[in-house]
Amino acid sequence: MTNECGWIAQAGRSPVRGSLKGTEKADWLIIGAGITGLNAAHTLAQMHPHARIVIVDRQRAAQGASARNSGFAVAHEHPGTDELLGRKGFADYQVDTEISRVASLEVRQRIARHGIECDFRDDGYFLR
Ligand SMILES: Cc1cc2nc3c(=O)[nH]c(=O)nc-3n(C[C@H](O)[C@H](O)[C@H](O)COP(=O)(O)OP(=O)(O)OC[C@H]3O[C@@H](n4cnc5c(N)ncnc54)[C@H](O)[C@@H]3O)c2cc1C
Repeated sequence: MTNECGWIAQAGRSPVRGSLKGTEKADWLIIGAGITGLNAAHTLAQMHPHARIVIVDRQRAAQGASARNSGFAVAHEHPGTDELLGRKGFADYQVDTEISRVASLEVRQRIARHGIECDFRDDGYFLR
């Protein structure tokens, strides 16, 4: 048995990128090619189309948590007892939920804008 992530194994092989050698000059350097780093690079490229953006990772791109998660674009986590309406944690829960809602919207918009084929389903899920 090999010690390999099932998601990565099913995704097929991604292109091998060369190792960093010598000196690289960049306007922006991003360390880590997970969803955070790749989104930062993508957004920077949109904002500064002529900038040189270098992204490095100690392994292959998107093979950390970003390739191993459950795949939910979640906007509303189930509130804890202290986060319920009228409790002291409710205000923080509202802020967290709003951040997640905007992030989920951004995911949907990027998938649509760039025609990304990722089996995204927009039908949500139910909490009880
Ligand atoms: C089992 C599991 C299930 C999850 N389910 C969900 C879910 O359903 N929905 C959801 O929204 N989130 C989920 N998450 C959380 C989500 O996967 C992470 O929040 C997200 O992937 C983090 O992305 P990231 O780019 O910040 O980090 P990562 O994906 O971890 O990327 C960081 C990258 O940086 C690289 N790196 C680290 N240190 C260095 C270094 N010194 N030099 C060079 N490179 C370096 C790593 O190799 C890695 O590629 C889940 C996580 C796990 C583990």
